[in-house]
Amino acid sequence: MFESERKQMVEFQLKRRGISDEKVLNAMYEVPRHVFLPETTRSMAYGDFAVPITNNQTISQPYIVARMLELLELDKSDKALEIGSGSGYVLALLSRLAGKAIGIERIPELAEKSKKALREAKASNVIVLQEDGSEGKIQYAPYSKILVSAALPEVPKKLLDQLKTNGVLVAPVGSRMEQKLVKIVKNPSGFKETYHGGCAFVPLIGKGGFDL
Ligand code: SAH
Repeated sequence: MFESERKQMVEFQLKRRGISDEKVLNAMYEVPRHVFLPETTRSMAYGDFAVPITNNQTISQPYIVARMLELLELDKSDKALEIGSGSGYVLALLSRLAGKAIGIERIPELAEKSKKALREAKASNVIVLQEDGSEGKIQYAPYSKILVSAALPEVPKKLLDQLKTNGVLVAPVGSRMEQKLVKIVKNPSGFKETYHGGCAFVPLIGKGGFDL
């Protein structure tokens, strides 16, 4: 279902805007994005925009998802953590691109639904935890890749501590309304930070994020 829509999404929204990582392009062609949406909005799944899920949250626009995944430079040796796994869509992509993917979602209803959708999308090597993930999850650390899928005022030190040497963290950092996409690489000699354009994510709510 929706195969031609997915192909168009990859061609026009991703390749034409410069996404070139073949693994990311393939994963986005293969993972059925509509499965992660409520029945009533499935026809909007492959549009060039963020789509509302439930509980006032959204799945990001396909391009921004692809950009974040490309910045993470994923491969099968990776253990990846996603904070704010929402519908489970990005987690399904991570589970294809990494060896293992762990998602944390604060809202119980979303966490439950995402487990069902992940099964439907046949995602393997994936775990969903329901709690405040704003300071990571020490039990499964260290991670070679960390993706924060909600806006942060700044990157908490506790998260950087859970990153392996040579690991990469990608997060939208800024205010509640607008952020910059930040990539942080943990080199043996220290952290290297680069910026990759503006974005607008829903806020990360919790200890290491914004107040409710
Ligand atoms: N990547 C998701 C969408 C992200 S929307 C997808 O593919 O569907 C951001 C998500 O972050 C929301 O679901 C929100 O509930 C969650 N969130 C906000 N604060 C959080 C926190 N402290 N810990 C875990 N999840 C959080």
